[in-house]
Amino acid sequence: MAQSNRSLLEMDRDHLIHPVTSFRAHEARGATILQSGKGMWLTDIDGNHVLDAFAGLWCVNVGYGHESIVEAAAEQMRRLPYATGYFHFGSEPAIRLAERLVSLSPEGLDHVFFTLGGSDAVDSAIRYIVHYWNALGQPSKKQCIALERGYHGSSTTGSGLTALANFHRNFDVPLKWQHHIPSPYGYRSDAADDAALIAESVGHLKAKVAELGAGNVAAFFCEPIQGSGGVIVPPVGWLKAMRDACTELGILFVADEVITGFGRTGPLFACEAEGVSPDMMTLAKGLTAGYAPMGALLMSDEIYQGIADGASPDLAIGHGLTYSGHPVSAAVALEVLRLYDEGGILANGQNTGKRFAAGLSAIADHPLVGDTRGRGMLGAIELVADKGTKARFDPSLKLADRLFKGGYGNGVIFRAFADNIIGLAPALCCSDDEMDMIFERIRTTLDALLEEPDIRQTLA
Ligand code: PLP
Repeated sequence: MAQSNRSLLEMDRDHLIHPVTSFRAHEARGATILQSGKGMWLTDIDGNHVLDAFAGLWCVNVGYGHESIVEAAAEQMRRLPYATGYFHFGSEPAIRLAERLVSLSPEGLDHVFFTLGGSDAVDSAIRYIVHYWNALGQPSKKQCIALERGYHGSSTTGSGLTALANFHRNFDVPLKWQHHIPSPYGYRSDAADDAALIAESVGHLKAKVAELGAGNVAAFFCEPIQGSGGVIVPPVGWLKAMRDACTELGILFVADEVITGFGRTGPLFACEAEGVSPDMMTLAKGLTAGYAPMGALLMSDEIYQGIADGASPDLAIGHGLTYSGHPVSAAVALEVLRLYDEGGILANGQNTGKRFAAGLSAIADHPLVGDTRGRGMLGAIELVADKGTKARFDPSLKLADRLFKGGYGNGVIFRAFADNIIGLAPALCCSDDEMDMIFERIRTTLDALLEEPDIRQTLA
């Protein structure tokens, strides 16, 4: 390793705090420093060339190295690098992007507030929901419900809607008004079939609302497919059933499509596949394919009008971000949206999604694999110590770290969740050959793990 790389590692260790890591574990391990990317491939600072089967952090949906996106950003930076949305100012890319998102998203979502990513999109949703019910004269409607294993970002309030232990421990969340119901986790549920699983979920929501009192409940938040919780794929029909239940219960339905949006599950939005129109929708990641930071909160006309009518025209509705509607991010997003459509990337993802599904089914026969699941280009491989009982591996084996390291050594990057679920989200530009390579490399990684004495012993 060159001297300069070593000092980069030292500077990183000494000064850079990484998201969602054990500080001590990171100091001991050091960073893997990425240097360049092209299509599905990443090159690190040591010259390793690896296939990225996770699209960065489920975001680089178009793949790395698109010159047209770089050009769109550079052009906008030269012309106008910044324009505030405050004081009634605007910029062409932000306005065009808002209009485009409304035209592409489910019926009824007519208004857009731009953020810098998903966490602040969720945070904005919470702020506007509170404002909305207050404006409507129903201030008791404050309780929010989300799913166990859900992820809704790591803002001060959103982290409490998230239901993952790392985001709660020592952070004093969930807050009192944040509640969780079981997730529709087919592999680990006793439900007899899909219909029963859906009915169970609806039942959990209704029971929680009854417990809290419908007059006190503001909203239900969910991901159409739970990403960071281990890629939990509910049965088709679940999303619609939950939406309908919310309508019946008189609570808002918020679809967090930060991961599932922009072709990740096949159609542009997962809601579209089930004919669901949420009251609010949060977006980020694939919106700019990770080329620039941006998220968005889409809201129904009913919510927008409720807030507008409830406020005095002389008083500002005090929610804002310096970089809301950033013109460079918006220009990037417009080009990314063009690539999904005219560039054929959405169609390619739908096509390669079939190869992905076949790869997931084929690897289910591996002795370490208990379950595989997926939709579109989003999937998971769940490893178990015992296929019959579905028993998980002992955490002391630190299997997730070993999996990730093994995969990287074999030239493939995937997500290795703590409970030994491999998360996969290849870019939608992935070719069939690259998809085959991803699964070959995963199988090689699993085979090598199987040879390790402590793993063998656990399985015996
Ligand atoms: N919501 C969901 C469903 C997510 O998956 C994520 C991030 O992974 C977020 C919100 C938070 O987005 P960000 O990391 O851009 O703040």
